[in-house]
Amino acid sequence: MRISFATANFYFLPFDETLEIIAEAGFQNIELDLFWEWNYWAMAQHLRDIPISNVIQSVHRSGLKITSIHDGGGVLSDHTSVAGYVNPQLDEYLDLLGYAPEYMVFHTPHTPGSWDADWWDNISGDILRALEPYRAFCSYLTLENMPHFDGFTVPLTTPEELRAFVNHNRLGVNFDTTHYAHMGVDIKGAACILDGTIHSVHLSDYAPDRAHVFVGEGELDLAGFVSLLDPTILDIVTLECSVSTADRSDMQMSHDEILSRMKQLRAKAVSLLGER
Ligand SMILES: [Zn+2]
Repeated sequence: MRISFATANFYFLPFDETLEIIAEAGFQNIELDLFWEWNYWAMAQHLRDIPISNVIQSVHRSGLKITSIHDGGGVLSDHTSVAGYVNPQLDEYLDLLGYAPEYMVFHTPHTPGSWDADWWDNISGDILRALEPYRAFCSYLTLENMPHFDGFTVPLTTPEELRAFVNHNRLGVNFDTTHYAHMGVDIKGAACILDGTIHSVHLSDYAPDRAHVFVGEGELDLAGFVSLLDPTILDIVTLECSVSTADRSDMQMSHDEILSRMKQLRAKAVSLLGER
């Protein structure tokens, strides 16, 4: 299995330093997380205000390959419209990158308020139409399982619902281990239900008070989970986890401490996933 690392794990570091650490730790592939923000939520803040052409030059200079792009958005501010569902920067990234990512990851949509199944039945066609143009840019479009958010309606939160939707609409699943664990869903049970649909993975461990935990430092049976993945349709796993320890935040760590944890993480991932 190839291994990639999600750039937003280091949203608090300058983007060039993020790439430098990832490459120096021995990784070759990245999932590029696009900057996105909505009210109190934000992702990949280290890309805020950086021109997209500069971001791409930085990636080219680093020698890392973007194997996937994570769009990062997903909120419908107005439940009747899919405006803003796709990250407004995505098209420019695809124009300027110079090669196609292997796959893309989109969040399942979520909208403020409480809406019933009719709402999802009505809006899901528009969501699919918004995604349709991106099929041409990569091998797989994947939808990531999202947890419940207070005050929001989030569709497709069960593995059964997600499976039915992606199968019906020729999409794949991006399986986020922390998101299911956070909801109390057994990741091995979910992997069995979603068998045949998992084209990408956001791998992290989980502890009751911590999400996206360093691989092997939480309570999940990640080896058991990995053994259930189908290598004929999935050959790359993205590490979407923090390098924090139980008692020390990565935001307090020096560059060298982070690099040392990254080397440990890569070694753990290689022993868990193998590497070719
Ligand atoms: Zn994720």
